[in-house]
Amino acid sequence: MKTFAIETWGCQMNHHDSERLTGFMKLTGLDAVEDSSGADVILLNTCSVRERPVHKILSRIGDLARTNPSAVIGVCGCVAQQEGESLLRRGSNVGFVLGPGQVQRVGEAIRALQQGRRTVFTGFDPEQEYCFHTIFRKSSTRGMVTVAEGCGEYCTFCVVPHTRGREVSRPFDEILAEVRLLVRTGMREVELLGQTINAYRCPASGADFAQLLDAIAREPGLARVRFITSHPRYFTDRLIEVMATHSHVSRYLHLPFQAGSNRILERMHRRYTREQYVDLINRIREAVPGVNISTDVIVGFPGEDESDFERTLNLLESLRFGQVFAFAFSARPGTPATRYRDQVSEEVKSQRLQRLFAVADRVSLELNEKLIGQHLQVIVDGDSRRSSSDWQGRSDGNRVVNFPKQGLTARVGDVIQVRITRASAHSLYGEAAVASSRLPVLGASVAPLAAPDSM
Ligand code: SF4
Repeated sequence: MKTFAIETWGCQMNHHDSERLTGFMKLTGLDAVEDSSGADVILLNTCSVRERPVHKILSRIGDLARTNPSAVIGVCGCVAQQEGESLLRRGSNVGFVLGPGQVQRVGEAIRALQQGRRTVFTGFDPEQEYCFHTIFRKSSTRGMVTVAEGCGEYCTFCVVPHTRGREVSRPFDEILAEVRLLVRTGMREVELLGQTINAYRCPASGADFAQLLDAIAREPGLARVRFITSHPRYFTDRLIEVMATHSHVSRYLHLPFQAGSNRILERMHRRYTREQYVDLINRIREAVPGVNISTDVIVGFPGEDESDFERTLNLLESLRFGQVFAFAFSARPGTPATRYRDQVSEEVKSQRLQRLFAVADRVSLELNEKLIGQHLQVIVDGDSRRSSSDWQGRSDGNRVVNFPKQGLTARVGDVIQVRITRASAHSLYGEAAVASSRLPVLGASVAPLAAPDSM
């Protein structure tokens, strides 16, 4: 065995776990390659939040048996935790199974393979140390940092508490040390990760997420800090105040509401009402003008009738989210919602999803069009996906912004002021308004070049 490749499905957490896996795999002496077709070991870092990805992963094991028959597969991530040992029977090419709580044992799994043994490592050990020094990050400008792992909310539709375990927060000082390390290595932006990040509590001092964010936002050298995913139940006034105080805290929030009907929210065990959610959004917008808020919505949850769904549509219209991640409900093994008898038909779910996207896209387009003519502060991520003659970056409000390279001396990680000239529902296009700058960053005596994505 000489080389390995990783294929990743799912959320930011999984993408960050792939960065952790890469670091540990490199320590085994194997070289990372991008293309699985010639790799000796292929890690499938899987997601089980919805049904379709699970099927895709199982069929991927079969595909690889045909296209790269000599490769050994390690199934990692949430499907590994959910399916466990049974995955070894899915194909003789499956060499090990490694749950998300066992990432640091991938080297052990490789050594066992080298001795001809197949292993299964699942479950969680809250005492296990988190090693951040070995993380191999793909981006040189934006570093993901885990704040807490798992979730203890037990929403009735969600597998995360089962596949990633109950929430375990990392120590405050350890997170700060990791952020400092990233800044020293030139990262401009830090993205803090947690399933319910604002439920964070330092296990040593009891410090909450507002205190952690405040400390991170004060780190000299950092251009921007962002965090996902927030739960409405834990969004405190103090957290709103920290966001309002620090201009380096991104004017972007991901705040799932899931359903617009209180009856459905209760069945989902979300533990807030529509009215409380609306009040929270209003308070955040008042304190942090221009904040871009995205959300998650589930359509066709068991028992959702037309009037429930219309309440969801109506909330989308009135709250005007920058981006909506919407999914049709899919029953996940072991979750209470699977047992509800009043399941909604696939046809109705699909129709509702289309209706919802029509509203969400129209609102996103309207919001983006209002940005035409404005100057946004954009951190350059790399080449645009559509054209190598354009740069692509993210605005303070986490909007994708493309702009031409021509006539601009810029590097990945630069902060550029871009004047927006065109808008679609999902991205913006503009032109650089000033020459590139390595500033402003926190601690520099330079005023911000541009306002947040205000409208
Ligand atoms: S808050 Fe609910 S939906 Fe989010 S990860 Fe936890 S259980 Fe899942």
